[in-house]
Order: sequence, then C-alpha cells, then structure tokens
Amino acid sequence: MSALAQQYKAINLSQGFPDFPIDEALGDLLHEATANGFNQYAPMIGLPMLREAIAEDFKNRYDIVLNPDTEITITPGATYAIYTAFSTILSAGDEVIVLEPAYDSYSPNIEMNGARVVPVKLQPTTFSPDWQLIKEAITPKTKAIIINTPHNPTGTIWSVEDWNELAELLRDTSIFLLSDEVYEQLVFDGKKHFSVLQHPELRERSFALYSFGKAFHNTGWKIGYCIAPPLLSQAFRRQHQYLSFSVHTPAQYALAHYLQKPHRQAACQLLEAKRNYFLELMKQTPFRMLAPSSGSYFQLASYAHISDLPDTEFARVLTKNNGVATIPISAFYSDQHDDKILRFCFAKKEETLKAAVERLVTIG
Ligand code: PMP
Repeated sequence: MSALAQQYKAINLSQGFPDFPIDEALGDLLHEATANGFNQYAPMIGLPMLREAIAEDFKNRYDIVLNPDTEITITPGATYAIYTAFSTILSAGDEVIVLEPAYDSYSPNIEMNGARVVPVKLQPTTFSPDWQLIKEAITPKTKAIIINTPHNPTGTIWSVEDWNELAELLRDTSIFLLSDEVYEQLVFDGKKHFSVLQHPELRERSFALYSFGKAFHNTGWKIGYCIAPPLLSQAFRRQHQYLSFSVHTPAQYALAHYLQKPHRQAACQLLEAKRNYFLELMKQTPFRMLAPSSGSYFQLASYAHISDLPDTEFARVLTKNNGVATIPISAFYSDQHDDKILRFCFAKKEETLKAAVERLVTIG
C-alpha cells in the first residue's frame, strides 16, 4: 500500500511508521557514538551498556529483574528477532498457532522454518482470544503459539486474565510462547501493558520480542531485542551468531544513553493525543470507528455501511480516487477474511491526519 500511495501521491496512513522527527537528543547521541569511535562490530549479544540499560528500564517500569548477560540479546529489529526465535525452536512438521488478524511476518517466518501455521481467529468485533478455539487447535505437533499485545492491527491489549487463561492452556504442554510486545510503551487511557515477563509460569517458556523503533519513533533504525530465559537465549544466540552476528554499533550506543533519560511518558502521551485527534476528526466522515485503540499506532474503522466492495478493492479505490492509503484487514488473515474494516495509522503529524481526513469527508 505504501508503494501504491507513492504512485498516486496519496497520504500514507497505511504502513506503521511515524512521519514526525525523532527527538533531537537521540539523533545527537548517534552522532556522538560515531565521533567517540563506536564504529566497529559490537559483541554478538549486543553492547553491554545497552543490555544493562534495558535491564534497568524493565526494573524501573515493570519491576522485572533481568540478567543482561544471560537473558537479553540485541537484534536488528523485532521482525528479525521473531524469525530467529522461530528458527531456534522449529523443525519440519511442527505446528504454530497464530491468532488472526496477525502481523504479516509471522506466517512466512514459520513456513520458512519448515513448520505449519495453524491460524485461529480472534473473536469478531472485540478481537479478544477465543479460548475454546485455541484449545481445539492444540495438537501433539504444536510447538509454539505467538501472541501480540498491544495488537497490530486492532489496538487491543491483553489483560492479566488473558495471560492466566493462556497459562492454564499451556500448563501441561511443552509449547513455547513468542510474545510480540513491540508496542508496549504505547498504551493509552491510563491502561497498563502486561508483559509475559510478569507472568513467572509463562516466562519460563517464552521469547519476548521488542523494538526500539516503535518506542522512539525511529523505525528505520531497526534495532530490537529478545528477552528469554538463559537456556532459550543461548539457543537463540546460536542462530543469531550465523544470521546477523551483530547489530549496528552507533545506534546501540545512542539507545543505551537515551534509555536513561526520562522521556517515556511523553511517547505514550504523544501517541494518545494523536489517536484522540484522529478519532475526533474522523467524526466528520461516514466511517464507523471500532473501539478506540488501547495501544499501538493503529485504529480500525468499518466501511460496511458505505460500500460492498471487498476491503482490498475499497482500500485501492480510496488510495487512487481519494488520495488516502490504508491497510485492508483481510491482509492480516491467512484466509483473507473480510469484515470491511480498514486499518489507519495515526502515528503522523497533525497536519498529515487533518489533510487525510479532509479527503475522506465526502466519501459515500
Ligand atoms: N511486530 C509487530 C506487531 C509490528 O507491528 C512490527 C512493525 N510493524 C514489528 C513486529 C517489527 O518491528 P521492527 O521494525 O523492529 O522489525
């Protein structure tokens, strides 16, 4: 959709990346890193200063204790971390449960590792897990389940009860858990992100995956990390050693220093204000907004009462004729399930959101 947006000079509310600048202080730190000689290969598992800063950050924000040497591995982005976690545990013939709609890299990553995707739909409209369906999807071949909170594309978040339900389902199995928490710092309305790392029972079997790109609006830096118990981290690192070996050193230096600044509140407040601004503007359009996003960069909206077109077609028409690019939700389902819902990315400057909505007012 980004390519189509470019072709038709449409305003791009499709792909999840901010169009506003990063904090100048973070950019300055990148320059400082290169000036200070941080230009050669970093250690395979990541710069010690960054792993220590992450451990400190998780202690401060979640009261989670992490060993930076044995539990944290820096990666070139979260997508890579997800792929590497899958390649650590999967063999041909294994099955992995994916809750759909789902971030589009999961299924190809599973298949690239010779395993089979077992899609399970989240509940219609609420997008909460359907525990009965998940239970029925578990077989002796199930090697892993991947979950994502805050959730792309729906903006829903998992509650403590959800984690407890999952723990109960997995208790007498050896199923691994991948917990994609890349939007953990972007949770709105005073709600809280609950990490798998706060659930001692689940934590033992989990790879938790993160991305600085989402937290600090620098998606192009592609720096993420994997937090897993020591044995799982060891196995993860055996893959990582021969996939990428190490990660961009200056960015690691910059992020290590930046993490120690008090800024995080601002990141979620900034995005919450953008969500509110977008929701308010969208009242002028015929779109019906689904529940306000509780976290992430994304808001869903239905056009079912406006058009009978399939969502891929409607999104294409919207891009070509109205000049606004969005993502059709069917793209997040393996069976292209279509509820006539589009995903809008509100991680944009106010002027971008305003200009986009002005183009949507006359639809219908
Ligand atoms: N997981 C989810 C749910 C995402 O939305 C994204 C980015 N779109 C990623 C992972 C990937 O993060 P990164 O850019 O660090 O690879």
